[in-house]
Amino acid sequence: MNLKYKVLIASLIIIILFSFSVEAKEVKLIINDQKVESNLIIINGRTLVPAEIISKHFGDNINWINNEQELRINNENLKAKLIVGKDKAVVNSTTVPLQTKIRESNDKVLIPLRLLPKIYGGNLAWNASTKTIYYNFNQVTNISVKKFSNKSQVVIKSVAAPQYKISHYQQPERLVLDLKKISLKEIDNSTQMFNDLIKSIRISQFQVNPATVRVVVDINQMSDYQLIRDGSNLILEINGEDGVNASSITSSFKKFHWKDKRIVIDPGHGGEKPGAIGQSGVEEKKVNYQIASRIYQQLKSEGFQVILTRGKDQNLSLMQRVKLADNWPADLFISIHADYNYKSWINGTTTYAHWNASEDNWALAWYVQDEIVKRTKTNSNGLKAANFLVLRESKIPSILVETAFLSNPREEYLLTTSAFQQKVADGVVAGVKRYFYN
Ligand SMILES: [Zn+2]
Repeated sequence: MNLKYKVLIASLIIIILFSFSVEAKEVKLIINDQKVESNLIIINGRTLVPAEIISKHFGDNINWINNEQELRINNENLKAKLIVGKDKAVVNSTTVPLQTKIRESNDKVLIPLRLLPKIYGGNLAWNASTKTIYYNFNQVTNISVKKFSNKSQVVIKSVAAPQYKISHYQQPERLVLDLKKISLKEIDNSTQMFNDLIKSIRISQFQVNPATVRVVVDINQMSDYQLIRDGSNLILEINGEDGVNASSITSSFKKFHWKDKRIVIDPGHGGEKPGAIGQSGVEEKKVNYQIASRIYQQLKSEGFQVILTRGKDQNLSLMQRVKLADNWPADLFISIHADYNYKSWINGTTTYAHWNASEDNWALAWYVQDEIVKRTKTNSNGLKAANFLVLRESKIPSILVETAFLSNPREEYLLTTSAFQQKVADGVVAGVKRYFYN
């Protein structure tokens, strides 16, 4: 291409960009009462916004895959692929058609504004006199369970009260609650609470376009249920049959001597498998081992029989770890890990059990979780159900403790300190004792 053409093309691009930005400056975008500072671009009457507003306004990280010309949004509930030059996007394996193509301009990926309500729910509104686009979206921000003597309440918190539809199914008995035009934030797709009434709760971004959050409550037994609106909260109240004590999650255990109890402590990863690595380079395998060793020492000094699954920097397969506990045979299996999330602000302690775990097993998880967070003052992310191999294949009560987040700079530091490690260890030991003693 000769120079003349290059200059011509360059000036054309400048003119096009200039005319876009002039047009865009006249139009304002307000997302949930917050003015968007990024420039909008309007092409053929369609508004495009820089993809960076996804991280700014929705808190989701975006990754740019250069050789695929593809933008990815990835969190526990949302997997989206936006490809430059395409007039469709893939959101949680649903293809969403777009009225205008995704573009790249000045190193910024521009996405059609209309895609956002399809991903995050909510509505767009246009005020012609002020040339302002309003985008209001709704999110489920928290789900918790309140226990009463003969009933349980599942409390769903959201920014604004959502429309809903509830269905009751049998075999297995469950309540399915669909919340409309709403998205899910910071709540994972896993079970959390349980008692005599509720077996488990599952929550997911069930559908995009229209955005629907589905809450499935698996029921152990119930006489009836009702939905109650409380401001923007929605409360699903589940009533038990007479004589059911919804608050009891533990049964009584026999008294025993500590020395009769055999406990396997499993420091996660090891050897060539470092596990998660924090921003300043702290390796999960290392802190797991240090914490596990403290638990080992502490349990020993209390009189328990205890073994560690691995040596200081050794790697064992997950199955070998389970087998070790089975062959001994052990009474409890406790795996120690540190958590990771690409969102560095996420923090706290979580204890996992298998989703088919017994009530005893869940009681162990609860005691350990409770005793750890009491001491470490970390944010309690509660109990979660998972299908991890070490939990699934184990024949004895087994839990996996995610002590804190290596991806969170503050917790990465804490995980290396002996004070924090000891608090976690003391918590695990106190939880184990409470499990056997209660
Ligand atoms: Zn791990």
